[in-house]
Amino acid sequence: MSDCLFCRIAKGEIPSNKVYEDEEILAFKDIHPKAPVHLLIIPKKHIATLSDAQAEDAPLLGRMLALAPRLAADQGATDGFRTIINTGRVGGQEVYHLHLHVLGGNAPLPAML
Ligand code: ADP
Repeated sequence: MSDCLFCRIAKGEIPSNKVYEDEEILAFKDIHPKAPVHLLIIPKKHIATLSDAQAEDAPLLGRMLALAPRLAADQGATDGFRTIINTGRVGGQEVYHLHLHVLGGNAPLPAML
């Protein structure tokens, strides 16, 4: 997906504030942080939404989720954090490349549920 913003970030064509990278995954700071720590963890391969993920993507999704505690702690969110995946129109997804939000800081986040 040459015109996908997060594909372009994954390829290094658009700069990002990168905090983690391996062969399959990139994590970077959200450009409009909603909390003192706000990271996005993305697969490098284009998966538009969580609904588009296939069974074969399960290990990749698991690795993304498993990275969240370590990356949150690396950024100073040592006392908890929130993970969010917005999916589709109803979920409020704006960038159609699957991404895991990781939000944290020192103070409790406002309750959502
Ligand atoms: P929402 O904007 O409702 O959270 P998404 O779940 O699709 O919808 O989140 C997209 C996120 O991507 C937003 O938090 C936005 O600030 C972030 N973002 C958009 N462009 C960039 C960019 N170039 N670098 C880093 N983060 C970005």
